Amino acid sequence: MLKLLLPDLYLDNIYNLDFEYLKKNNIKGLLIDLDNTLLPWDCSDISQDLMDWIKKCKDWGLSLCIVSNNRARRINECASRMGIPAVTRAIKPCKKAFLKGLNILGINNDQVAVIGDQIFTDVFGAKRMGMLAIMVKPASKKEFIWTKLMRIVENIVLKQLKIK
Ligand SMILES: [Mg+2]
Repeated sequence: MLKLLLPDLYLDNIYNLDFEYLKKNNIKGLLIDLDNTLLPWDCSDISQDLMDWIKKCKDWGLSLCIVSNNRARRINECASRMGIPAVTRAIKPCKKAFLKGLNILGINNDQVAVIGDQIFTDVFGAKRMGMLAIMVKPASKKEFIWTKLMRIVENIVLKQLKIK
């Protein structure tokens, strides 16, 4: 069980992503969480740095798709400004949303990495799909009350996994 909660990589933020590592692992697509991964929670400001990073992903031959549990309107609006597709109201870690994302990317699960800031939605979801799991530190301290509660459990697990 604990194995399904263990990310393959743990990064400070998306900008530290090692593209060589992805290439070595035959990763062709990324399913990316939005809130506190690509953007600070509930923030819709898309920086030039983020746009440059998205371009870099594409230059490395990666297909991108956002998979978010958040409400459709804001996610779709952000995603279209970033020029990438999105699966909204994903109910991660449910497999359905990841399967939808896979379908959009049009590649196999072992060619996909999931990037997100939460163990129980992003990492667990990725692992049970047989995908590479990349965890980032949350981009801001703001989040849902429910997420805050889950962080307490998450911290216990992270300590157990000796990541922190
Ligand atoms: Mg998130």
